[in-house]
Amino acid sequence: MQITVLGAGVIGLTSAYYLNRAGHQVIVVDRHADVAAETSYGNGGQLSYSYVAPLAGPGVLSKLPAWLSRKDSPVRFRPSVSLEQWRWCLKFALACTRKHSNTTTRRLLSLSFSSRALMHELVRDELQLDFDFEHSGKLVLHRDAHAMQNAVDLLQFQRSLGCEQEALSADACVELEPALASVRAEIAGGIYTRSEDTADCYRFCKGLETILRARGVQFAMNTSIDELRLTRGGHIEARSGSVTLPSDNIIVATGTGAARLLKPLGIHVPVYPLKGYSLTYSLGPQSIAPKLSVTDFARKVVYARLGDRLRVAGMADLDGYSLKPDAARLATLRAETAALFPMVATDQRDVTEWTGLRPATPRGTPIIGPTPYRNLWLNIGHGALGFTLATGSAALLTSWFDHQRKPSPVSNHFTFDH
Ligand SMILES: Cc1cc2nc3c(=O)[nH]c(=O)nc-3n(C[C@H](O)[C@H](O)[C@H](O)COP(=O)(O)OP(=O)(O)OC[C@H]3O[C@@H](n4cnc5c(N)ncnc54)[C@H](O)[C@@H]3O)c2cc1C
Repeated sequence: MQITVLGAGVIGLTSAYYLNRAGHQVIVVDRHADVAAETSYGNGGQLSYSYVAPLAGPGVLSKLPAWLSRKDSPVRFRPSVSLEQWRWCLKFALACTRKHSNTTTRRLLSLSFSSRALMHELVRDELQLDFDFEHSGKLVLHRDAHAMQNAVDLLQFQRSLGCEQEALSADACVELEPALASVRAEIAGGIYTRSEDTADCYRFCKGLETILRARGVQFAMNTSIDELRLTRGGHIEARSGSVTLPSDNIIVATGTGAARLLKPLGIHVPVYPLKGYSLTYSLGPQSIAPKLSVTDFARKVVYARLGDRLRVAGMADLDGYSLKPDAARLATLRAETAALFPMVATDQRDVTEWTGLRPATPRGTPIIGPTPYRNLWLNIGHGALGFTLATGSAALLTSWFDHQRKPSPVSNHFTFDH
């Protein structure tokens, strides 16, 4: 079948890959000249298969006042007049219960475990993919005993769902990751997950693009989709200016661009941008940088070694669609890095700053599958986990597509009216 994939981020490209492998004729469309030019460009580089618990957790609402009153807090909310933003916030607040959080975690773990297996298959089979992929393992640091106890409780819940994780003392954390030696006194403990990976999402996307082109997938870059239109025959067509694109089947994988594209069709997806930042340090011979992937839980900052670079990412700002960087937020991220890893970079010129918008749903589950329109499908809303969940989501979409819209018990968890 002919399929047009809208969006050449990590979700669109992996969708194109699995659909093409299943024998379909695929065109990928994007408004930029290059693939992965938006959120998939500079993300945290974490393939974080065991850390999928949503932001909407039971303890979050009580932490919000403290987060919102501090300038350097990891989460920030700038109220606007947008109804879309307020609707999203209400749904988020309603999702902040133990029951919802456990259900979401269980669903996401099933998707992330299949994503891990598929990513490892890709790394093994597609030899030309070179994207700083490492089986790095992940250490999540906790700074107080209460947070550490909560993490151990979560570990026990996740163990029942198949995650293999270990609780470590502060000394054991430093033994595992010597770059933490200077902050030993600030660590209460950590959770180590051996099975986590890290990689460069942009390089992954570039590699996939090369593979897809070689397999005959076409790319229509510099092509902005202005409208999805319902024809008299009940078919949806994608329009760019006055041009109608091939529209036998359309997959929407436009990240934070999805809600606005779908709204005129009466499809209201709760996908809203959560702005984040990253820094990429070029490491020199004097740098003492972590080899493990490290997460500072209290500060919600992640650190990943990507070859001879260190990627640092964090912040979650709910303040609309603007990509304008906030110098104070970037300065906070630099200060966090300098405090945890003082020997990473002293030369400020060797740091690249980046801002991106996570396509977030209130509950933290992506939206994958058919819509009420027969030829229109969605693969959107992967929030803070798009790189991690990309392969599993794309394979799920492909299998659902090939089974003529008959949902499986797994696919049912990711429908658009969840
Ligand atoms: C700071 C930060 C750190 C992160 N860290 C991690 C991490 O460590 N691990 C992880 O798994 N995830 C992480 N994420 C999340 C991850 O990056 C995203 O979930 C993922 O990139 C989303 O991919 P996407 O393809 O849906 O969106 P995008 O990459 O944004 O791709 C959507 C594409 O659609 C195109 N598009 C949109 N509208 C239109 C239109 N109308 N016409 C034509 N083209 C259009 C855009 O140009 C874009 O190329 C992070 C995100 C941020 C911001």
